[in-house]
Amino acid sequence: MSLEDQLAFDRENIWHPYTSLLDPLPVYPVESASGTRIRLADGRELIDGMSSWWAVIHGYNHPVLNRALLEQTQKAAHVMFGGLTHEPAVELARLLIQLTPAGLDKVFFSDSGSVAVEVALKMALQYQQSRGKASKNRFLSLKRGYHGDTFGAMSVCDPDTGMHRLFSGFLPQNLFAPAPECAFEHECTPECFHEIEELISTHRRKLAALILEPVVQGAGGMRIYSPKYLAGLRRLCTNYDILLIADEIATGFGRTGKMFACEHASISPDILCLGKALTGGYMSQAATLCTSEVAETICRGNPGVFMHGPTFMANPLACSVALASIGLLKDSNWKDRVLKIQEQLRSELAPADDLPDVRRVRTLGAIGVLEMESRVPTAGLQRMFVREGVWIRPFLNLIYIMPPYVIQPGDLSRLTSAMLKAAREIRNLL
Ligand code: PMP
Repeated sequence: MSLEDQLAFDRENIWHPYTSLLDPLPVYPVESASGTRIRLADGRELIDGMSSWWAVIHGYNHPVLNRALLEQTQKAAHVMFGGLTHEPAVELARLLIQLTPAGLDKVFFSDSGSVAVEVALKMALQYQQSRGKASKNRFLSLKRGYHGDTFGAMSVCDPDTGMHRLFSGFLPQNLFAPAPECAFEHECTPECFHEIEELISTHRRKLAALILEPVVQGAGGMRIYSPKYLAGLRRLCTNYDILLIADEIATGFGRTGKMFACEHASISPDILCLGKALTGGYMSQAATLCTSEVAETICRGNPGVFMHGPTFMANPLACSVALASIGLLKDSNWKDRVLKIQEQLRSELAPADDLPDVRRVRTLGAIGVLEMESRVPTAGLQRMFVREGVWIRPFLNLIYIMPPYVIQPGDLSRLTSAMLKAAREIRNLL
């Protein structure tokens, strides 16, 4: 099929994320991707600022990850996980237990981030049922949070920016606390917790768990908040007998400058969700970890088993590439790299603070965000970025990047210059 025919077919028949089929946004055909470069079908090369939505932390087409996949393909691309097991799954689970915050030592593999969140919610519900507290069947989450697009996950996403209204008749009714307002450096005083503590205290008999994205709220607004706030919420959960679910699907594996964002606050959640960068962005696979207390309580109750089992659970290809990706991370100076990216983002994005259309500049680890005063014209900005030779995908009022950790300073400067140019010229594009 010619390229033109491919694009016409795509436009006519294939849904892209959150788009219309009657009036689709333009898409750019990719021929290949390697390192930090995405090569378009017309030969143009773009510097990747997105890590394909937090996932491709080592860059594209990485020889070590390619080899891991090829070698595993020759052994078994897939086997069911019901009644069978394999070394890549065992080794990966062992590594995740070692790497994640203390106390998380039981692992459930699943096939995507949203499903990992569904699994976490189910774990919390089965846990409360098994300990005779079946009425604890609601969740508390933070406004501006995002946890995925399946129904359970949607029900704990921000009720305004999420999709609640659209599916309101069907969605479970949960509770929402104000979005965290304390900036990263904020020490937090008892007042910071006043409202959320009152919510928890009032509803503790019906709350199974609090679910949150630690320190960085991603797709719900790219907001960064104080680790002290997170530590305070951990204490409240313990005091009021509700579980804490940390969704590190976006923040996990070094993105914020710590291996997991919970480490900024030196806390362990009761349940942890991982995905995205787990496989170095090679394929979809996720994991939900929990404490022995949660797992054993579930298994002592009725029906005595955890009720979930996806077809591609612990897919051997995904587990092998995840093992190789974590190996690469451990053998690299990832922390130095991420902190250098953070420094460069801070200094190069600082001038945006003075631009009239920029409300706020936010940076943490390998994440750089310009929050604009109003919604940005995605298609127009996208065209401008492609002309500048960079791949940056803005949404809502956010122009943001989270590049692969292997990005070189010169390439990072091209990304930040393009962001500044966009922020300066945004009025012409509206
Ligand atoms: N939780 C968070 C924090 C996420 O950022 C995402 C994906 N954007 C998800 C859950 C859902 O993951 P997936 O898209 O793999 O289902």
